[in-house]
Amino acid sequence: MTIKNKCKVLKSIRKPERHWVGNGFFVHGLLRPNNELNKFISPFIMLDYASPMEFKKTEEDLRGVGEHPHRGFETVTFAYQGEIQHKDSSGGGGLIKPGDVQWMTAGKGLVHTEFHSKEYSKKGGLFEMVQLWINLPKSRKMTKPKYQAIIKQNIPIIEQDQVSLRVISGEYKDVNGPAKTFTNLNIFDIKAKKKGRLIFTSKENYNSILLIMSGKVIINDKQYDDKTLIIFENNGNDIHIDHCASLKGLFLSGEPINEPIYSYGPFVMNTKEEVELAIRDYQTGKMGSL
Ligand code: MN
Repeated sequence: MTIKNKCKVLKSIRKPERHWVGNGFFVHGLLRPNNELNKFISPFIMLDYASPMEFKKTEEDLRGVGEHPHRGFETVTFAYQGEIQHKDSSGGGGLIKPGDVQWMTAGKGLVHTEFHSKEYSKKGGLFEMVQLWINLPKSRKMTKPKYQAIIKQNIPIIEQDQVSLRVISGEYKDVNGPAKTFTNLNIFDIKAKKKGRLIFTSKENYNSILLIMSGKVIINDKQYDDKTLIIFENNGNDIHIDHCASLKGLFLSGEPINEPIYSYGPFVMNTKEEVELAIRDYQTGKMGSL
């Protein structure tokens, strides 16, 4: 039996300044489309963390982001506190409640809105969510838009070593997550008690990322704190999280898409020409309207 080395951390990003997305999401932009980093983060493109924030009740207009387009990738929204309602030009949408995940394949393009739900807005309270963008391979960028509403009840939970791990996509110890994906990828939602520990076995070349929403973790004798995103080396070594005190986090890993990315705002394509076409298609109404 060969003993693998422990995987090293390539880069960690802590607590970038928050910015508003519309008037409903005050987010730490922890991951951004980045050609230099792409080979270590692909297929993941972007991650925004709206850390817990109190919103006062409102009976007026809903807070959030109005009509905007997407093309060429998937947006995955994880609700932790508060509720979000989505609506799009392909007839999709729905309510995302705490513990739910909504997986939207923008594919060839759609326009949508993302707002706090009516019910939540009426009561107000704490709001917390994550939005992740996942790239599509060139051959699937123009696929038909679709939604997967993954409700809390349909996400399997594994309990071990003081950690509860929800398998949203991919596989952990023979338990499979409900999300259907275009490339092989794993997404695990993690909640650890005081003395949790975790080991992730990584496939050769898979990229791996850990988002620490709250709590502290120790990796290779170094401590990492809340609102931190950790990007690991991608050499197939196992990831040892030796201590994860009260961690609330997301672990992402996946097969990289080895293709160039060209991104502009809500469009992520392979070339500038494809992005220019996306802009024209949006402006001429080819992505639909609400
Ligand atoms: Mn959007």
